[in-house]
Amino acid sequence: MWNIRAELDDLRSSDLERRVRALSHVHGVEGRLDGRRVLIFCSNDYLGLADDPEVTSAFLAGARSYGVGSGASHLVSGHRPVHDELAGALADWLRRDRVLLFSTGYMANQGVISTLVGSGDVVHEDRLNHASLLDGGLLARGRMRRYPHADMAALGAALQRPARRHLVATDGVFSMDGDLAPVAEIGTLARRHGAAVLVDDAHGLGVLGREGRGVLDQAGLGQDDVPLLVGTLGKAFGTFGAFVAGPDDWIELLQQRARSHIYTTAPPPALAAATLTSLERVRADDWRRQHLIDLIRRFRLGADKLGLRLMPSSTPIQPLLVGESADALRASAALEERGILVTAIRPPTVPAGTARLRITLSAAHEQTQVDRLLAALDDIRPLLQGGGRHARNNITCERADTTPEP
Ligand SMILES: *Cc1c(COP(=O)(O)O)cnc(C)c1O
Repeated sequence: MWNIRAELDDLRSSDLERRVRALSHVHGVEGRLDGRRVLIFCSNDYLGLADDPEVTSAFLAGARSYGVGSGASHLVSGHRPVHDELAGALADWLRRDRVLLFSTGYMANQGVISTLVGSGDVVHEDRLNHASLLDGGLLARGRMRRYPHADMAALGAALQRPARRHLVATDGVFSMDGDLAPVAEIGTLARRHGAAVLVDDAHGLGVLGREGRGVLDQAGLGQDDVPLLVGTLGKAFGTFGAFVAGPDDWIELLQQRARSHIYTTAPPPALAAATLTSLERVRADDWRRQHLIDLIRRFRLGADKLGLRLMPSSTPIQPLLVGESADALRASAALEERGILVTAIRPPTVPAGTARLRITLSAAHEQTQVDRLLAALDDIRPLLQGGGRHARNNITCERADTTPEP
C-alpha cells in the first residue's frame, strides 16, 4: 500500500522533515527571510563571487552572445567554443592534461564512478563522503566498500583484498565537517596497492592551496598521484556546474561513456563565460583567501572563548555539533530570531545523533559580522549544550551511522 501520508508524518515526528525557505533580496551575505533581514552563515559562496559585479557582467554578456540554453547535449549540438575555453582554462589552472565538464557535481561523481568501477572492481569510500560519491558507488556495476572516516589502517586492509581493480574515492574537504582528507596517505596506499584515486575537492578548490588549487596542491600531489580530481563550480566559483580533471585517456574514456555527461543538456554557454571570469578572480585574488583565513581565526578564537565545542576544521566550514535533530532545529530557529541564518543539518545528511549547525564563512563577511554571529551564539548558548553529550566520540573517529551498507 502506498501510504505516502504516513511516510511524511514519520519524517515530521522524527524532526527530519525538510522545509524550503525562499530567501529574497540576497546581496552577498545579506538577505531577507519572512520579512526579517538575515546575515547568511551557511552558503558555500566562500569567496563572495556569486554576485561579483565582474562575474555577473560576464554572465550577461554571455547571454547576449549565446542566448540562454545550449539546446542539446555536448555530443549533439550543445557544445560551444566557450565550453572548450573553460575546460582548457581549468586544466591549465590545475596543471592537468584535460577537463571534462558536467552539469553538476552530483552528476560528475555519479558519472565518473559508475563508468570506471565495472564488474569485479571495488570502489573504497570514506564513510563521510558526500552523497553523490556514495550514490555513484551504488550505481556502479562493481562493489562499494566504505571505510571508517579517515581510517588509513582500514583502507590499507581493504585494498589488500582481491579485486580486479581498486578505486579510492574521497571528499578533499569533508562537506559537513570541514576537516581535510588524509590525501597524502591515501596516495601512498594507492600507489602501494596499484589503486586509482578520485578526490572530490568541492570545498577545497578556490579556498586552499596556491591560486586556490585545493587540497591536492596543498599536499604536493599531482595528476600522477591522484588521476581524478572532481571540482564543482557552484561553491567558491559562485557560478554553477562541475568538472573532472585528469590524464588524457581517462578523460577521453569518461567523455565516451559517462552517462551523466552524455545524456543531458550541455550547461548554458553564458555560464561558462561567467565561470571563466570567476576563475580569473579565484586565481588572482589571494586577498579573498587571506581575509577568509582571518575570519576563520576570529571565529574560532571567539567560539573557544564562549566555550563552544568546535570541530577540528581549518576551513570555512565550522560546524557546531548539537546532537539531536530537534535541538539543532531549535538552535537554528533561535539564531534566525536574532537575524542569523544557519540551517540545521540533520540525518541522513550527517550520521544519527550528530545533527549540527553547519556554520560557513565567506570572504564576503566582515569581521564585525562574525562578531554578530558570536554574540548571537553566546545568546543561545543553553541551546547548544546538547553537543556535550555527543561531541566527544563523534568528531574525528567513526560515528554511529544509520545509512545501511549497500
Ligand atoms: C556540493 C557537493 C557536490 C555536488 O555539487 P553540485 O554541483 O552542487 O551538484 C559534490 N561533492 C561535494 C563534496 C559537495 O560538497
